[in-house]
Amino acid sequence: MNNNQPDVIIVGAGGSGLAAAVSCAEQGLTVVVLEACPEPGGTTGIAVGSFTAAETRLQRRQKIDDSVEQHAIDLARFAPAKIEVRNNHAQRTFFIKHAADTLSWLQSHGIKFVGPTAEPPNSQPRMHNVIPGAKTYVARLQIAALKLGVKIYIQATVQKLSTIDGRISGIEYVDADGNQHRLHAKRAVVLATGDYANNAEMIRRFKGPGYENIVGINPNALGLGHLLAESVGAALVNMDITYGPELRFITTARQPFQQWLPVTGPLATIQNWVARFLPQWIFRRIIKRLLVTWQHPEEALFEHGAILINEEAERFCKERNAKERNLAVSNQPNKQAYILMNSDQIEKFSRWPNFISTAPDIAYAYVDDYLRLRPDIATKSTTLEGLIKNTPLPLDSLSETVVRSFGATKGPWVLLGPVKSYFTTTEGSPAVNEQLQVLNQDGHVIDGLYAVGQCSLNGMILWSHGCHIAWAMTSGRLVGETIQGKRSS
Ligand SMILES: Cc1cc2nc3c(=O)[nH]c(=O)nc-3n(C[C@H](O)[C@H](O)[C@H](O)COP(=O)(O)OP(=O)(O)OC[C@H]3O[C@@H](n4cnc5c(N)ncnc54)[C@H](O)[C@@H]3O)c2cc1C
Repeated sequence: MNNNQPDVIIVGAGGSGLAAAVSCAEQGLTVVVLEACPEPGGTTGIAVGSFTAAETRLQRRQKIDDSVEQHAIDLARFAPAKIEVRNNHAQRTFFIKHAADTLSWLQSHGIKFVGPTAEPPNSQPRMHNVIPGAKTYVARLQIAALKLGVKIYIQATVQKLSTIDGRISGIEYVDADGNQHRLHAKRAVVLATGDYANNAEMIRRFKGPGYENIVGINPNALGLGHLLAESVGAALVNMDITYGPELRFITTARQPFQQWLPVTGPLATIQNWVARFLPQWIFRRIIKRLLVTWQHPEEALFEHGAILINEEAERFCKERNAKERNLAVSNQPNKQAYILMNSDQIEKFSRWPNFISTAPDIAYAYVDDYLRLRPDIATKSTTLEGLIKNTPLPLDSLSETVVRSFGATKGPWVLLGPVKSYFTTTEGSPAVNEQLQVLNQDGHVIDGLYAVGQCSLNGMILWSHGCHIAWAMTSGRLVGETIQGKRSS
């Protein structure tokens, strides 16, 4: 194979890029993947890994009677009406129809799932959970790609798209030493570059001023593919829609334990076999760990009077106003804050129906779960001195805030944090057609340019858990057939 002129260049080795690489190679196309980071993965590699689909083999095995039509109806119930009204129905229906085949395709590459589990308002259990975690997608697809002869270059950041006679003919990239390179693609360039949750300038430009201090959970989600597409005239769709901002606890310095579990090899085989027979309570315990790592604290916490304080131990916003709260946290010192709970709130949030975070109907995390599983961000103490011993909070200021907010300084107290205001994902992308070809402002195809994953949402609103990864994998799987000319719709 002449790597200087592969058939296809894929920009980005996250979930959609690796799926696209495997799919293109399976179609007999030669492929080079360029990844900006030191290792493949992207947001996919830090995700939980759920994959939502209807009419799957795993559903049939559990005698779940489902249909893509019902899935389409249910999916419209997740986002608030003012967001859902902007959904691209045609593309979302197209996606839902192809998701189950994608799940089977991933299974054929050795990726194992448990479930499906319920996620209201879905009327049927559709959330398939990859085991042991989302890194499995990255590892398994990488192995498949390499076996098929795909070349993956890391620390190779694509900075420009090249054009010959109006057709996208290749890319220019810079390597880890700052050297510039050009690469020509005989058939296609595929943008698989993820989203722009951590590009402050893009957030400010598309969402408006005030939001630019909010960070993306993935610091490398910089929207470079969106900018590349825009530089050659692509239309951009729904760029102001974001998943978040919402408060989340900072992640543990240690990787969550799922990230340590083997994703390939004999140990992984045994573990995956065992996982199929795990009782639900063990599965819930695993999910609970993910909850205290990734999930946002519930609105109810503030409705019941928990307060937010900054590093000077001062209150700075009306906590019950979600929009004001999420913006205000990002403007505090170090862009972070702490949640303070008094004895009443501790009591309430120690049992059903009040929980600090949840994956609805699957698992719920209460005060004790945070104290046990996240000692790095959760402290309980009867005194204010004891409460702040591992924080920069000043005692005198805290005492004043506590008297002003709760009327007394009597414990016990629980301090949770730091919390930051994060965008989980952004939902805007270049416009694409069903062949995943990028479209210009007039709706015409930009010859030679394709997009997949978050860079190809094209107005779809995918606010149920598990749909972003399902689209990343589905678009990646389909783009190989498209480029090879085997799929017209
Ligand atoms: C904490 C968290 C949990 C989540 N959990 C779930 C879940 O369980 N289920 C679900 O469906 N969704 C989940 N999501 C969302 C989902 O993970 C993402 O939307 C999806 O994985 C995106 O896949 P992608 O391939 O489009 O992008 P990514 O996986 O982000 O891949 C993009 C890749 O492109 C590379 N890149 C970017 N620009 C360039 C360039 N110019 N040159 C070279 N390389 C470049 C990046 O470094 C990156 O590796 C979660 C998100 C977060 C933040």
